Amino acid sequence: SREIRLASRPVGRPGPENFRLAESPLPELQDGQILVRNLYISVDPYMRGRMNDVKSYSAPFALDAALDGGAIGEVIASRAEGRKVGDAVVHQLGWREFAVLEADATSVARTDLAPASAFLGALGMTGLTAYAGLLKVAEFKPGDAVFVSGAAGAVGSLVGQIAKAMGASRVIGSAGTAEKVARLLELGFDAAFNYNDGPVREQLVQAAGPAGIDVYFDNVGGDQLEAALAVLNVGGRVAMCGAIAQYNSTEPTPAPRNLALAIGKQLTLRGFLVSGQRQHSAEFFGKMSAWLAEGSVRYDETVVDGLENAPQAFMDLLDGANTGKMLVRL
Ligand code: NDP
Repeated sequence: SREIRLASRPVGRPGPENFRLAESPLPELQDGQILVRNLYISVDPYMRGRMNDVKSYSAPFALDAALDGGAIGEVIASRAEGRKVGDAVVHQLGWREFAVLEADATSVARTDLAPASAFLGALGMTGLTAYAGLLKVAEFKPGDAVFVSGAAGAVGSLVGQIAKAMGASRVIGSAGTAEKVARLLELGFDAAFNYNDGPVREQLVQAAGPAGIDVYFDNVGGDQLEAALAVLNVGGRVAMCGAIAQYNSTEPTPAPRNLALAIGKQLTLRGFLVSGQRQHSAEFFGKMSAWLAEGSVRYDETVVDGLENAPQAFMDLLDGANTGKMLVRL
């Protein structure tokens, strides 16, 4: 089975030399196991952290071993109860063509409800991150004005639309290109700006108007967090989801320089991991499938074909080439 391995650890921005396409024999199927042919693999920013040899919330990738990550595939052989040939299953052995898995390390995807790829995006980990981050971590309530960074990405685009669907007074998004900004307005954001067009703080002040913002969903960190702290209202809440502006940094980043504003404004800043929000999965799935069915939430995908192109897809993700969820189709 062909797989993508980590050839060396990137310093700063990853390059093609950090990855290698290789082949591994498949282990023989044991009782309780299934053989899966992967259909889509998920390309995620957090993988950048696992490429460093640093202990974090998830273990570093081993050198010269296949990368792993979210994937959806089709069961092509089964020695497990509850999984039959033809089932679509979500699992964590992406970045390879075929995977042998314990059946209980997989979950069956309801592909009668949505296309397979959606179970890695809006109906999967990405969607749960957006839903739980906004509603449980930031404790969004109807009438709140919301700002989300990385807004044209997989998580961010869902955050903005969920907030609208649930009665936000105003939803503002930031993204890196004019095309993405235009897309956000199509998706129903009230305002959007390109963070490359000028200082984020000035653009956010203008987009928010006198009402300010009550919730900031942070995918980026750095100057976007600093701008949000300046504009948040008293009692505002921040869901700290990601800090992609610093994933390739080799030095600690200075912003936000105005963190002390959190005192006077009595702000709440809460970091979270989607793995700590699994208790909301069923509620999330019910709500999200209804929003998708009625069209109040839509999702974009950027699909790259071929396992051999997965490293480039990952590098492109960090450079902002994706709109919506970045996926590799095998
Ligand atoms: P996205 O689809 O948002 O893709 C990443 C995007 O980040 C790019 O498209 C790019 O868009 C933007 N970006 C890259 N560099 C910068 C920069 N320097 N400044 C501002 N924006 C930048 O990925 P996801 O939706 O999968 O993830 C979004 C965030 O959520 C990430 O920070 C990720 O780590 C985090 N996350 C956290 C989880 C958790 O459990 N806490 C779970 C899942 C994701 P642009 O063109 O706009 O720059």
